[in-house]
Formats: sequence, structure tokens, C-alpha cells
Amino acid sequence: KSGFVAIVGRPNVGKSTLMNHVIGQKIAIMSDKPQTTRNKIHGVYTTEDAQIVFLDTPGIHKRQSKLGDYMNQTAFNTLGEVEAVLFLIDAAEGLGGGDRFIAEQLKQVKTPVILVLNKIDRIEPEALLPLIEQYRKLYDFAEIVPISAKMGNNVNTLLDQVQKYL
Ligand code: GDP
Ligand code: MG
Repeated sequence: KSGFVAIVGRPNVGKSTLMNHVIGQKIAIMSDKPQTTRNKIHGVYTTEDAQIVFLDTPGIHKRQSKLGDYMNQTAFNTLGEVEAVLFLIDAAEGLGGGDRFIAEQLKQVKTPVILVLNKIDRIEPEALLPLIEQYRKLYDFAEIVPISAKMGNNVNTLLDQVQKYL
């Protein structure tokens, strides 16, 4: 099995951290500053029975500048060309306008979308289900997987789920 997977999400939700964890190398630029990742960075995850190419997109976000416009278009084009989209959100920050905007954009493509609730190390376990319920109202996600990209919690489960769509 092999295929392409795009990672989308607001700045700072942990896209680069997740990809670095999966690929095992520091190949994406990490920073607390929003929008550090200017280009798609491809990382390849290989096991005995699967090969997944990850695209760390610059992020779909509300229009702020011509450059932002260009980056949105680049990210958006990618979404139609991949086997699955990982929509990363920051579980500690919760649902905001940025996530709503992305969910609206995702409705324009047919690619299956996996909701990834990241940073679960920063929330109480009881907070998880109510959060999931909020997000489920936004979009009909193919899968919903809570993880901590930083700690590596549940990332293997996420990789198993992704492989269903290759
Ligand atoms: P990106 O802008 O979406 O690529 O986000 P980054 O991967 O650069 O991460 C933004 C910040 O969130 C960094 O300070 C990361 O260390 C932090 N971060 C990412 N994942 C997690 C996580 O699972 N738990 C916690 N506590 N912090 C995280
Ligand atoms: Mg990044």
C-alpha cells in the first residue's frame, strides 16, 4: 500500500511536530511563530507493508495577504490530489474561527478527512468527548483520532487509520 497524505491545520497546532515524529527526523521547520513552514515539505514513512508520503502544508487560513492567498491556493490544490487529509486541531485551545474556516474549505474536496485532536497531553480526559462532539457538527469526518504529537501518544493508531485509505 502506498499513497499521499496532506496535513492541514491552523498555525501552531502541531503539524510539523507530528510529521517529525512520524518520519523520525527534523525535516520540517518548527517554531512557535505562526507560518514558519513556507513550502510543502514531503516526508516519507515506510514500513514493511506501507509507504506514506506526508505533505506538511503551509496551512489553509483566512486571507491576510497576497502571499497568504498564494499559500492557501497551493495548500488547497494539494487536498484534491491526496488519498487522505489529516485535519489537525489543538485540543487545548478548542474550536475557534480558524478551525471553522478550514472545515468549510474541506467541504469543497471529496478526499476523506481524518480529524486529529492534538495536544491531548494538555487536556483533562473528560474534556475529550465534548470536544469531539463540537467538531463532529462541523464536518462528517472519516475518522477521529486523539493524539499527542509531542509525546508520541496514539500516533501509531493514527498511522493504522491512515493506511485504511491508501
Ligand atoms: P505547526 O505550526 O502546526 O507546524 O505547529 P508546530 O509543530 O510548529 O508546533 C507548535 C507548538 O506546539 C510547538 O511549540 C510544539 O512543541 C507544540 N506542540 C506540538 N504538538 C504538541 C503536543 O502534542 N503537545 C504539546 N503540549 N505541545 C505540542
Ligand atoms: Mg509547521
